This record gives sequence, structure tokens and C-alpha cells, in this order.
Amino acid sequence: MSVPASFLPFARPDIGEAEIDAVARALRSGWVTTGPETRAFEQEFAAFLGGGVQAIAVNSATAGLHLALEAIGIGPGDEVIAPTLTFTATVEVARYLGADAVLVDVDPVTLNIDPAAIEAAITPRTRAILPVHYGGLACDMAAIHAIARRYGLQVVEDAAHALPASCGGTPVGQLPSAATVFSFYANKTMTTGEGGMVVTRDEALAARMRVMRLHGISRDAFDRFTSRTPAWYYEVVAPGFKYNLTDLAAALGRVQLARLPAFVQRRQQLAARYLRELAGLPLVLPPQAPAGDTHAWHLFVLRLADTARVTRDEVVQALADAGIGTSVHFVPLHRQPYWRDRYALRPQDFPVAEAAYQRMLSVPLFTAMSDAEQGRVIAALRACLQ
Ligand SMILES: *Cc1c(COP(=O)(O)O)cnc(C)c1O
Repeated sequence: MSVPASFLPFARPDIGEAEIDAVARALRSGWVTTGPETRAFEQEFAAFLGGGVQAIAVNSATAGLHLALEAIGIGPGDEVIAPTLTFTATVEVARYLGADAVLVDVDPVTLNIDPAAIEAAITPRTRAILPVHYGGLACDMAAIHAIARRYGLQVVEDAAHALPASCGGTPVGQLPSAATVFSFYANKTMTTGEGGMVVTRDEALAARMRVMRLHGISRDAFDRFTSRTPAWYYEVVAPGFKYNLTDLAAALGRVQLARLPAFVQRRQQLAARYLRELAGLPLVLPPQAPAGDTHAWHLFVLRLADTARVTRDEVVQALADAGIGTSVHFVPLHRQPYWRDRYALRPQDFPVAEAAYQRMLSVPLFTAMSDAEQGRVIAALRACLQ
């Protein structure tokens, strides 16, 4: 047995000297809160997605989801439909607004929200569908938009994993949803430390989200301090939130965005090697995107096949013993005490997510990992599964 190599974490951000220089420049500029870096970041992000979208920078995807639901008018008594296999942020924002989250099961192949389950969950109170592009693979958005049109529902996409991804040849962010929300949390496909971006093509929604992002004030600080009208005057038009992104974070984000095409290439390369070299083990490997579409490969989620002679927890332990970090995405929300108790949810109501949860683990897939490090993960999986 060789000496164990240093610990390989589940994820690590890919921050270089260019990011450090950009943040230092922002620090030296004398403007650290939302200002010119954030404006440039929004413009560059909108241009990256294309299709004439507007981009609104926020200090987390959670903030972005909250703004989007507020802007489409979600309120007390309304219901929004979301998958159980997601992070709590997707649906906690509905509760902020006094609305209810209706959790549904996922598709057994993609682990994305099941369109048939959405349709079965619609009630007279349903207002919106919140699809989550699980792991970076786009949901069946054609089916979801068809349901939304048929029942007069809004769609807000949780695209925290899906930068960049596409669906039927269209980039996620440009699809005909009310709004799409991306995350720049530390372990996402690009990071600003904490941060997010909401995109929409709806002018009125964009305007509402811009105002609500900053206290419901009709002019932001940079506009006030650089325009010719008096700096001290502003109007509060609503009880807004404090969700603006700092220029320090935006400066970091601009460099990360410029590197995103290289990031996604590296992620695709890592995913392709996992798919190739883990084939033949008693595993259900994650599906690839349909031909012509982009998978963001935020996560590489393995499921143990029925033929595996070890449990998920044993595989997690074997990898930990080999100095490799793993994770589980996610403990389904129907198992989380708050959601379980509030809506009296039972595991048997979510058979697909439940079965997946018992057998799943996510292995390291991040741009800063080396081929040798990935080789260690593959070797450790072979050793415990073969
Ligand atoms: C990370 C994540 C979020 C929240 O993103 P933040 O930027 O941390 O608020 C929301 N939904 C999903 C599915 C996520 O993975």
C-alpha cells in the first residue's frame, strides 16, 4: 500500500492571479459596493448568455429566487411546484412570501423534476413551477413549458447548477421562462465567493427585481453619486431587500466568467473520463445531455446498482479512507424536518428520489483537480466496487 496522498476535497474553487489582481484593483478603486464592476459583470453575463436577456446581479442565488418569485407576484395562499431532490433554497423563498411549496418526485434517469408529477400536483392555487437543472443537466423544459402554458403558470428556473447548459439547442437562461437564476456560490461552476445572477427578457420583471434588490429604492447608490441630479434624493417605492452584489465580488466574477468556456471544457473532459473508466462497475452512471446540448457537469452523481455488494455509506467510507471527499446531493426535502413536518410528507410518496437518495454519492469534479487526482478517485471506486 502506497503512502496516502494528500486529501482530495469534494470541491475547491479555481481562483488564479487574475482574479486576485481584479479584486485588488476593485479595492484600490475606492468603490467597493455595487458600482461599475457590477454593471460590467451584468452586461458581460447577459452577452455571454445571448438572446437579449437582462442580467441582475445579486448576493446569492437564494436572493435571486426570492426576487423572481416576488416579481411574478407570488404571495400568501399561492403554491409553487418544485422537485424534492434539491437544496432547500429552491423552495424556502416561497415561504418567505407566505406561499406553499408543493414537492414532487423526479425522473428515474435524469433525477430532474418529472413533468407528469408536476401535472398531477397542480391545484387551483398553483402559480409557478420551479424546475432545478439537477447536476447541470437541463430539465425537459419543452414539457414543462407546455404544462405551464396549458395551466397558465409561470416558470422560474433554478439554474444554480446549469452554467452553462442548453436545452433543445437553446442556452439555459434564454428559454421562455419568467426568470432564470444562477449561483456563484464557492463550489458552483464559477464563483464570486457568494453571489448570483437573475436573467429575464421581461422588462417589467427586470425593473421590479432591480428596485427590490436594493431596499425598494428607485435609484442605486452608484447612479446617485455619479449622475447630475442631486445625489441625496431618492424615492422608496416598496419595502425592498438588501440583495445587491459588491464590486469586489463582481470583479472576481468577471474574470471567472471569462474563464467559463475553459472551465466547462475541463468539466466535460473530467466527466467523459469518469463515464469511460467507471463503466462496467456496479454503478448507475449519470446520463449525458442529448446530442447537441451542453451539460454543465456541476455534479457527477453515482448511484449504486442493485448488483453492488456494498452500501453507499461503505463507499463513502472507503473513499474517505483513501483521502477523497464526497457528498450527497441531496437529502431530499421530504426528509428534512421542516418540510416533512409542515406538509406531512412521507418517503413512499417520492419513490424515485427516495431510492436514488439511498444509493447516491457525488464524487469530486472540479476544474482545479488534476488527472492524477481523478485517477485516485477512479482507483478507489474500483477497489471497493470490483
Ligand atoms: C447552491 C444552490 C442554490 C443556492 O445558491 P446560493 O447562491 O448559495 O444562494 C439554490 N439551488 C440549488 C439547487 C443549489 O445547488
